[in-house]
Amino acid sequence: MLIVANWKAYIEDFGKAKKLVSLSKRLAGKTKNELVLAPPAPLLGAFSPKNKSNVAFAAQDISATTGGAETGETTARVYATAGATYAIIGHSERRAAGDTDAIVAEKLAHALAQGLTPILCVGERERDTTGQYLGFMREEITIAIESLAPKERSKVIVAYEPLWAISATSGASVIESNDLAEMVLYIRKVLAELLPGKSSRHSLVLYGGSVEPDNIRGLAGSTSVDGFLIGHASTDPHLFSQLVKQLD
Ligand code: PEP
Repeated sequence: MLIVANWKAYIEDFGKAKKLVSLSKRLAGKTKNELVLAPPAPLLGAFSPKNKSNVAFAAQDISATTGGAETGETTARVYATAGATYAIIGHSERRAAGDTDAIVAEKLAHALAQGLTPILCVGERERDTTGQYLGFMREEITIAIESLAPKERSKVIVAYEPLWAISATSGASVIESNDLAEMVLYIRKVLAELLPGKSSRHSLVLYGGSVEPDNIRGLAGSTSVDGFLIGHASTDPHLFSQLVKQLD
């Protein structure tokens, strides 16, 4: 299982970051799961270049630009230079801040051009009773990856993150295992149509949205999901240890 810890802006000081990085390195030495940390950019820059452990680092987002006179932007190349190997792209919190489907597609291409593995976040705002959310999902995935070369498409990891399930601590709902199982299969079907030959068999599909120690095992065991993108629970050392252990 691939476990991606999205620290968002929860971790703002060096001491807390150091504690979580050390803990993750210890956990990575014992677990079968693969751990990826996505700290805010300066903290990634502090820990990732010296990293020799099994823990990998991810950008929480990358710039839609490729450098130059772009004050405040952090490009894919900068992240790759700092030692990141993954990049979260199209997170709903970035989409809410203005990332359109076209910008998401552009960012995917920039990430791949710099050798970063993109983690493409997709997810419906709400579920209707007529299944329109499935069409929405198909469109979000298709627009994001159709302009990539066929060989590049299979490098994209898809993270299903329904907006209604993100941050249950702020009132969101928790997904039912059967709803997740159905969506993971649907995403695999969409990928099979978009990727060349049988290459989609190797595509990873993650889930994110209020994953906690008390639901992670159920979600993993009754679906064909390949891992999780975890927000707030990944920033608490006790909860993060429990999450990783639940999957061993
Ligand atoms: C997220 O926003 O990527 C996420 C999964 O958040 P949380 O786990 O806090 O719901």
